[in-house]
Amino acid sequence: MAGIIERYRNRLPVTGDTPVISLEEGSTPLIPAPALSALLGEDRQVFLKFEGLNPTGSFKDRGMTLAVSKAMEEGCRGVICASTGNTSASAAAYAARAGVPCWVVLPAGKVAAGKLAQAIVHGAIVIPIDDNFDIALQRVIEIADAEGITLVNSINPYRIEGQKTVAFEIIDELGGAPATHFLPVGNAGNITATWRGYSEERETGRIQVPPRMIGCQAAGSAPIVTGAVVENPETIATAIRIGNPASWQGALGAIEESHGAILAVEDEQILAAYQHLSTNEGVFCEPASAACVAGLLKQHEAGIEIAPAGATIVCTLTGHGLKDPERAVDGTVLPEPIGSDLDALRRAMGLS
Ligand SMILES: *Cc1c(COP(=O)(O)O)cnc(C)c1O
Repeated sequence: MAGIIERYRNRLPVTGDTPVISLEEGSTPLIPAPALSALLGEDRQVFLKFEGLNPTGSFKDRGMTLAVSKAMEEGCRGVICASTGNTSASAAAYAARAGVPCWVVLPAGKVAAGKLAQAIVHGAIVIPIDDNFDIALQRVIEIADAEGITLVNSINPYRIEGQKTVAFEIIDELGGAPATHFLPVGNAGNITATWRGYSEERETGRIQVPPRMIGCQAAGSAPIVTGAVVENPETIATAIRIGNPASWQGALGAIEESHGAILAVEDEQILAAYQHLSTNEGVFCEPASAACVAGLLKQHEAGIEIAPAGATIVCTLTGHGLKDPERAVDGTVLPEPIGSDLDALRRAMGLS
């Protein structure tokens, strides 16, 4: 399947002269979630848009293909980003593909192992700093500007443009818009982009009513919920550990215009949703992704109607679970090895 630029060329700011730097991102599966659907009852259908199956394992690739293609068109000397991990993994891969240097500035010790491995393996210049993501972002904005290096964080407008294609794919597949769309919110680029995609489809007339957008932040990093910058954001969901979202206004616009909501979910609720997805639905996403399902479960438990009976609900699972293997095995101790005779094996299996 071609990448998002080829598939949605007439909806994106590209011309015949734009070099297409693609790893065939997008076209991710919209997986039915029967256990969640059964929980909500009355024929409601929950689908998981599994963005963890993009080339570098997160939705960031949709925006990065466009940001790096436009950077190459403009003759850039390299790309730079601040990152909680997935932006750097994606930037590193697309920069490698384009043959330009990539610098990534990361909060030291706060990036999941898989994401760091990706930045390293793709040859990015990795610079850990003794500060959080929000400070890292301020610094790379300054240096990109001063040095003429292209910034590929989501304040790069091409990132948002590329990421809006997720809404096109969902409408393509469902034949219409869902009633409600849940997604995790960190820097708020993705909720802004997804809403733009739905809004454009309303303008083209392909849908009449766009979904209610429900953004989910981690309780320890919930500036949009509380209405105030969080100086020291904390959460186990490192990809949304952001205290001053760059696309704050975009998120507010999406929530207001769609009659949606912004919720805070506790880390325990995020982990419960993460467990639910992996053990009941068979889908392994990273903790930040599970925040949106935590939001869905929280609303359901509070007796809030998530969507009318028979309606469709989409949750964006933003990144792959293998990004953060330490979280996945946290506290799990494997049993001591046993002899390989069948009796011992039967006992270990609980069969005798
Ligand atoms: C980047 C990211 C988010 C947050 O997206 P924003 O656009 O910053 O709100 C959520 N989950 C994962 C896995 C991410 O990589």
